[in-house]
Amino acid sequence: MSGIAERPMTARTTTPHKQTLNSRQRARLRGHLAGDREQTRLVIERTAGELDAFVSARYDAPTDDENDPEGPTLAFERSQASAMLRQSEQHLQDIDAALLRMDQGTYGLCTKCGGEIALGRLQVRPQASLCIRCAEHVR
Ligand SMILES: [Zn+2]
Repeated sequence: MSGIAERPMTARTTTPHKQTLNSRQRARLRGHLAGDREQTRLVIERTAGELDAFVSARYDAPTDDENDPEGPTLAFERSQASAMLRQSEQHLQDIDAALLRMDQGTYGLCTKCGGEIALGRLQVRPQASLCIRCAEHVR
């Protein structure tokens, strides 16, 4: 990845702070976001339901984890579900932020440096808010 970073940033002829996605590309990406949003909402709903079920399972059959073979498994599944829920909620926030940027006309621009986010990256991660260069610096 280090070879890419050495290319000068100023070589582009496009004006800054202006994204060059055409309307068809934008519409397609918006479709991806909307579909992903719907799916993520379903996952959140289902996972939240599972977590509720775990809680009531605990109440129905109060056992201590050490003697009940189901105990540790249940605790593990519960923590998995809760991690999944957190992740999905974060994902939903990212999608909503991307849709907002689309409405504001700043979609496809890096929220950090203002540079264009490559179309190839948006196609894989339509909710991306950072260009690949800034994303690499974040971690
Ligand atoms: Zn950037």
